[in-house]
Amino acid sequence: MSNERTFIAIKPDGVQRGLISSILSRFENRGYKLVGIKLVTPTESLLREHYNDLQSKPFFPSLLSYMLSGPILATVWEGKDVVKQGRAILGATNPLQSAPGTIRGDFAIETGRNVAHGSDSVESANKEIALWFKKEELVEYKPSLFGWI
Ligand code: ADP
Ligand code: MG
Repeated sequence: MSNERTFIAIKPDGVQRGLISSILSRFENRGYKLVGIKLVTPTESLLREHYNDLQSKPFFPSLLSYMLSGPILATVWEGKDVVKQGRAILGATNPLQSAPGTIRGDFAIETGRNVAHGSDSVESANKEIALWFKKEELVEYKPSLFGWI
């Protein structure tokens, strides 16, 4: 089993709309393993670092205020090809272009309120996981086909 990891965050609108369990269940049902989870009220500097590559975009100030509008559920998932598959489970950035059946395609209609984030490459996943989580906040365990005995 691959130990590739990705960073998936439920953005403030997803938390406020009560979508946490609906979003997390899609990753669990697909077969991915949850190895880190916490509610975070992020600082502006954390978000500037997280969205470092977007600082010069015209929508950056509204992106910042959106992401600062409430707590975010930060999660880390592990499994085969999880970075690429995580993006597929999320759907396109603009929800109007996201296929039905994806998270954004089912729960959102605006790019500026697209309910969840997912790392776009293994390299950014590693950076984002290190930015949002301390090493000791991430766990390791073997999923068992035979329950917990
Ligand atoms: P993704 O989240 O799919 O990786 P990007 O990294 O391009 O997309 O952008 C980060 C986030 O910035 C998006 O998820 C969205 O919330 C916001 N965003 C991107 N483009 C726009 C836009 N044109 N207008 C408003 N918000 C945007
Ligand atoms: Mg991105």
